[in-house]
Amino acid sequence: MSADLAVVGGGIVGSFVAHRAAALRPHWRTVVLERDVPARGATAWSAGADFPLAATAEHRSLVEESRRLYDELQDTPPGLFVRPVRMVYVVASSRLHDLRARTVADLTPTGAQEADRIRRMLPGLRFKTDECAVTHRGRGAVVAARGLTEALLTGGVRKGCTALQIGQRVESVERVANGYRLTAGANQWQARRVVIAVGPWELPRPLAPGLEAAVPEARRKRVAALHAQLPVRADDPLVYFVDDDLFVLPLCEGQALVSFRRNVWDEDPDTLDGQADAADLEEGVRALAARSSRAAAAVVGGRAFQDLYTPGRLPLVHTVPDMPGLSAVVGGSGSGVRLAPALAARALDSVLDSAA
Ligand SMILES: Cc1cc2nc3c(=O)[nH]c(=O)nc-3n(C[C@H](O)[C@H](O)[C@H](O)COP(=O)(O)OP(=O)(O)OC[C@H]3O[C@@H](n4cnc5c(N)ncnc54)[C@H](O)[C@@H]3O)c2cc1C
Repeated sequence: MSADLAVVGGGIVGSFVAHRAAALRPHWRTVVLERDVPARGATAWSAGADFPLAATAEHRSLVEESRRLYDELQDTPPGLFVRPVRMVYVVASSRLHDLRARTVADLTPTGAQEADRIRRMLPGLRFKTDECAVTHRGRGAVVAARGLTEALLTGGVRKGCTALQIGQRVESVERVANGYRLTAGANQWQARRVVIAVGPWELPRPLAPGLEAAVPEARRKRVAALHAQLPVRADDPLVYFVDDDLFVLPLCEGQALVSFRRNVWDEDPDTLDGQADAADLEEGVRALAARSSRAAAAVVGGRAFQDLYTPGRLPLVHTVPDMPGLSAVVGGSGSGVRLAPALAARALDSVLDSAA
């Protein structure tokens, strides 16, 4: 079986790669090799929050490019999975200038109406002394990542340029004459170009040994969120308590997701089923209770999976000169959904005009 492009991994990053290939090279045959079914990894459990926040210049360029590419999905079937949401940041006034420097949008104070709205969402909400609430025009979104992944892949499948192979766990990617040989059990594919996007699974290093020199040490980190039955409406804002690294995202009428910081590393993704465990719930409830004990009492469960984190906490696209036509996206670092369009674009563009 041969292809112009093989994409290893059918999460949100791999699906954006296939989607872009279908748009830029509609005559190509692209094969997506997925060990399970699409969007069963980190993507399945993602909160999908797309903040216009960036820590460095490189980060900012990924944020801006991703936002532009997400905007291009508007009025297409995948665009249905991207929901604009108002974002409110609760931050110490003394740290407002740091937030301003990190925000790829102009911040303005929220009005009294918005403050009342937040208090209604989180009954008994406690603000810390010196905290203020700010927002920005537009530019915040929530991505229904699992649905979007499937919609992106389906577009290419329907056009006839994407072949989705489910249940194919790629064990090796080897350089051969005219491209790469990918082996999954008894099956083999040959492709001129390969993009590896396996989320927190096998690091590209053992998968494609030639990438060794370029891939930095990255570690798997647990990422968890709570589900709480709160008096929220679907059009309420996402409220981010910046100094607590905690946000409350209305999912639908009466239910919100609460994202909080978790510090558990190096688990095996194959041991996780996506459900929050007792320790996740305990830590999350404690973090939320510091803001609103009534909200903490309304927690009904949660989700937890992992993501791969790079040392700089920024996803990276890797290529090496002696492996032309091969690239790997490494380390969603908790931002793999919001940055997926730009990461996929960079990974694909790096192999578009180079082939082994
Ligand atoms: C609870 C939680 C909340 C999150 N919230 C946010 C958020 O608000 N905003 C945000 O931007 N990000 C968030 N993230 C992070 C984000 O979900 C990830 O960064 C992103 O989904 C990574 O996408 P991916 O395609 O790289 O990986 P994955 O979705 O894990 O996809 C990788 C795919 O590769 C497949 N695969 C693996 N190995 C092989 C192989 N050898 N052969 C074939 N297929 C293989 C897997 O089955 C999987 O389908 C969150 C994550 C979690 C867990």
